[in-house]
Amino acid sequence: MLENLKKEVYRAHIKLWENRLVMWTSGNVSARDPKTDLVVIKPSGVSYDKLLPDNLVVVDLNGNIIEGNLKPSVDMATHLYVYKHMPEVMSVIHTHSTYASAFAAIGKPIPVCLTAMADFFGRDIPVGELVLIGEEEIGKEIVRKIGNSKAIIMKNHGPFTIGASVNEALQAAIFLEETAKVLIMSRILGEPQPIPESMVKILHKNYNEKYGQ
Ligand SMILES: [Zn+2]
Repeated sequence: MLENLKKEVYRAHIKLWENRLVMWTSGNVSARDPKTDLVVIKPSGVSYDKLLPDNLVVVDLNGNIIEGNLKPSVDMATHLYVYKHMPEVMSVIHTHSTYASAFAAIGKPIPVCLTAMADFFGRDIPVGELVLIGEEEIGKEIVRKIGNSKAIIMKNHGPFTIGASVNEALQAAIFLEETAKVLIMSRILGEPQPIPESMVKILHKNYNEKYGQ
């Protein structure tokens, strides 16, 4: 079931791997099927070279396994909480990517200091408090703090991104890591300079209305 969605979620996992946003078995992607509200998610503890579209797990919004022989990701409750409380979200991605996790370690938001960040994110990247993994606590913190952001950094943990599609959540994960990297590197040269908020709004609006084919 949901063969196309499984392929899409599988490809997103491989993109995370190719972009070096995940290592060993860490990180997970899920996507919600708009027709059935069923969710496709990575199985727990499976390394990326062993991952296949067929071993992804299909669950309902209450976490019941609908299809799959493997246990779903330990972050499943987080993903499902976000889907239940944010109907517009169709995909959730979690990584421990290096540079975004550096911001997690200090528990500080990422300010908008680059036009590329203003274009895509249109705002700073907020931080969620440290909460325990495994139940709904992370999901609750994401829903409480993410606002209109496509990404959030959980303090002492790492980033989560969301999107109206797998592609959007994936782009957010990749752009977030790149943004965090530049910000950290810029500190070698001096103090990063935030873009005024009025300018951020204009850049974001223009990007959404004019960029692309
Ligand atoms: Zn994690």
